[in-house]
Amino acid sequence: MKLAGRVAIVTGGSGGIGRAIVLGLAAEKAAVVVSNRGSREDAESVVDEVCACGGTAAYVSADVTRPAAVEKMVSEVIERFGRVDILVNNAGISRDSLLPLMRTAQWQEVIDVNLSGVFYCTRAVVRPMALRRSGAIINISSILGERPWRAHVNYSAAKAAVNALTRASAVELARFGIRVNAVAPGFILTKMTRTALEKFRDRVLASIPLGDFGQPEDVAKAVAFLASDDARYITGEVLHVTGGAGIAVGPL
Ligand code: NAD
Repeated sequence: MKLAGRVAIVTGGSGGIGRAIVLGLAAEKAAVVVSNRGSREDAESVVDEVCACGGTAAYVSADVTRPAAVEKMVSEVIERFGRVDILVNNAGISRDSLLPLMRTAQWQEVIDVNLSGVFYCTRAVVRPMALRRSGAIINISSILGERPWRAHVNYSAAKAAVNALTRASAVELARFGIRVNAVAPGFILTKMTRTALEKFRDRVLASIPLGDFGQPEDVAKAVAFLASDDARYITGEVLHVTGGAGIAVGPL
């Protein structure tokens, strides 16, 4: 019950990792706002799952690439719950292509959602968090922000920038009592990764010291920790949830 009385927003809360994050925060008794672009049905099914377990959750639709929609989402949350304590910037997309063939739209869309979206949502919660002199922001980055994989220049660039944004905003927002950290997942089994992971299964598994893909719940546990007071003295960090992927230089 580490988050009792807290209110959290999870962007992309209806996707593979987002759903697990919502359920993880709700298990610690936070009231959770599930936000996404697209399927209302998916988001409402997460809300129903939380409520069925006796938790509190609500759905607020917002496209993170639209600053006005993001501001409206935060206003709605304040109106309904009176506060926002935790923001999880989880919404993300991939539009993979080899660099010479990558269309401008593929580059721009990934930067818009995965990087600018994090900035818009962070900016929108600073004021309500600063007024309470307390807040925790967790950005979902990726191992690909540090270790490249072919056909991912847009995604890698965006996630590397999210790590930099995490550190820079942690320094700037500490004076308001707001902590900002990132979680960098490795290869987690979700809709986003299933096709690629199936195609390269053996090669990818051979690069993970712990010898297995991650589950969305592995990421969710790291997020719940960083959101809680157990992490009260941790800010500006990137916590890797990768099974050790990307650490070794040579063959395992
Ligand atoms: P997913 O495709 O299952 O879910 C993505 C979610 O983001 C969906 O709910 C979708 O509606 C939402 N979304 C997309 N564009 C949006 C927008 N413009 N505005 C609001 N919401 C939007 O993906 P996932 O695998 O659960 O990934 C979640 C996060 O984890 C992403 O940031 C991703 O980059 C990161 N990540 C995933 C893995 C992995 O192995 N799955 C690894 C590293 C990092």
